[in-house]
Amino acid sequence: MTANASAAVADRVVERRRAVALARHYPEAEGLSIVQIADRLGRSPATIKAYFYDPTGEKARAVKSRYQGVCRGCGACTQPRNGKGDAYADCKVCLRARSSGAGPESP
Ligand SMILES: [Zn+2]
Repeated sequence: MTANASAAVADRVVERRRAVALARHYPEAEGLSIVQIADRLGRSPATIKAYFYDPTGEKARAVKSRYQGVCRGCGACTQPRNGKGDAYADCKVCLRARSSGAGPESP
């Protein structure tokens, strides 16, 4: 992961924490419903529900990592396809490199 990418992740975590704090504040302080909170924060009601259910994003991350694969070319995380244990064997970078004939596994 590059420094930029980890900074982007940190930004997202901070942003989520702020949104979670707001989402928690509204029903207590102003008695807003999920739909009203979603409206205020400019997010979907499903997102607000996720903030209550999974405030740190940890559950979503765990699911993602369970479904993710490891690239056989460079060891990066690969995208999941349909379910557990079904992730791609190559990351996008290696796939592209190989299809252009410059990949690590090309003869
Ligand atoms: Zn790769």
